[in-house]
Amino acid sequence: MTPEAARKFTAIVSKERYLDRPEELACYAYDAFLVQALPEAVIFVKTTAEVSQVLSIAHANKIPVTARGTGTSVCGAPVPIQGGLVVCFSKMDQIIEVNTRDRYAVVQPGVINNDLQNALAPHGFFYPPDPGSMSIATMGGNIAQNAGGPRCLKYGVTMDYVLGLEVVIADGKITRFGSKNVKDVTGYKMASLFCGSEGTLGLVTQAIVKVVPKPETTRTLMVNFTDLDDTAKAVSDIIGSGILPAAMELMDQFTLNAIEESANLGLDREAQGSLLIEVDGIKEACEKEVALIVDHLKANHAAHIEEASTQEEQTKLWTARRSAYGVFAKLAPDILSEDVTVPVSQVPEMIRQIMAISKKYDLTAGVLAHAGDGNMHPLIPADRNNKAEWARVEKAFDEIFAAAAALGGTLSGEHGIGLAKAKYLDLVMDKDSMEIMAKVKSAIDPLSILNPGKFI
Ligand SMILES: Cc1cc2nc3c(=O)[nH]c(=O)nc-3n(C[C@H](O)[C@H](O)[C@H](O)COP(=O)(O)OP(=O)(O)OC[C@H]3O[C@@H](n4cnc5c(N)ncnc54)[C@H](O)[C@@H]3O)c2cc1C
Repeated sequence: MTPEAARKFTAIVSKERYLDRPEELACYAYDAFLVQALPEAVIFVKTTAEVSQVLSIAHANKIPVTARGTGTSVCGAPVPIQGGLVVCFSKMDQIIEVNTRDRYAVVQPGVINNDLQNALAPHGFFYPPDPGSMSIATMGGNIAQNAGGPRCLKYGVTMDYVLGLEVVIADGKITRFGSKNVKDVTGYKMASLFCGSEGTLGLVTQAIVKVVPKPETTRTLMVNFTDLDDTAKAVSDIIGSGILPAAMELMDQFTLNAIEESANLGLDREAQGSLLIEVDGIKEACEKEVALIVDHLKANHAAHIEEASTQEEQTKLWTARRSAYGVFAKLAPDILSEDVTVPVSQVPEMIRQIMAISKKYDLTAGVLAHAGDGNMHPLIPADRNNKAEWARVEKAFDEIFAAAAALGGTLSGEHGIGLAKAKYLDLVMDKDSMEIMAKVKSAIDPLSILNPGKFI
């Protein structure tokens, strides 16, 4: 970046919103994945006009631009692999409007998901996408990653809730797609195109998202199994029977023990598999759903079924599940936690294959899964400094991705592609489809300045 370009950037934002000292830049070189790269500068934007001016200058000078929310991505998506400028949205954090009558909210990209939930709660409403990182991740990051979470089984992922977007494209033009209407089929669904685009097509500066009423009742079951295969089969039987719980989370023994070690919640360390199941809706409907679910659990030899009887107990069970990622960090110097999705009927087979592949490479794998929608997070703890071990980890994941593709699955259910999985894209996409993506990218960002070096 030339000194002249740097001067122009600092003229847009005040000096304290522009960082270029090495010790400052180091904080923006990484996310929760394993690859790091330093930017040349970081700029904190507060308005759409600032974003537009920043991009005009970057475009004119062909400076790579990588957007950043709070850097919780687990696939390297916000890592500025080609240097340049990181545009950080964490200070653009206003909830502009909450309108429960027309069922939408308007937010700036730096709003933390949980802050939106807190703003909606007094109205008896909520915003369904609930990534495990919801208390730290931004709405802009959620949109760019098309984030999901446990209750996306019933409610759908971020894209299903994005009604409209304001996006600044590479040359600085401010564009708006979609509207505040729940039904809007006017033209191409452009707002959806930006969901999951990982900051490669434009920078989101405002979003209109759909909000929904909180269900009357929520019931939460914790179920233990002595056999992991039974656990997975119970999931596919419940979903196959037509019941749609709000969430159905699977944890294997490895994961349960990791959580228990750290949080001491009284989880059954002997269970080979467990399910955390939540149903929500009208009281009588939940009653019936729970009864049907329990029938399927028993048919699949559930060893212990327990229902949370208070809100505190529900929170405790979810705390256990949501703390999983944090506790894995304690297991080994490095953890490669991945994200594959298979059709629900293939969940038992995918788990068998994950276990067999990790055994083949003399590794220990754990499985954490939003199993009701087939979205699984196989994770392998290891030490990257141990080159031989790490090579085995990489080979194991090569095979895990190939296995998911062979079962009709896909590379990511929610975490995205980023740097982590670009090399696997051709397992699930043909050449022509990839070419179409490349054409879309070059039509909107012809100089390829937006998050260059990523999956596109
Ligand atoms: C403990 C933990 C649990 C997690 N659980 C889940 C989960 O359950 N489900 C799930 O889906 N993910 C999960 N994640 C991954 C991560 O939190 C999500 O991908 C999240 O959406 C990233 O948001 P962020 O604000 O941190 O974005 P960042 O990590 O900063 O950026 C992510 C991507 O979004 C782009 N971006 C950011 N802001 C903008 C913008 N305004 N305009 C355009 N592009 C932008 C960046 O360039 C980058 O490509 C988890 C992560 C952690 C650490």
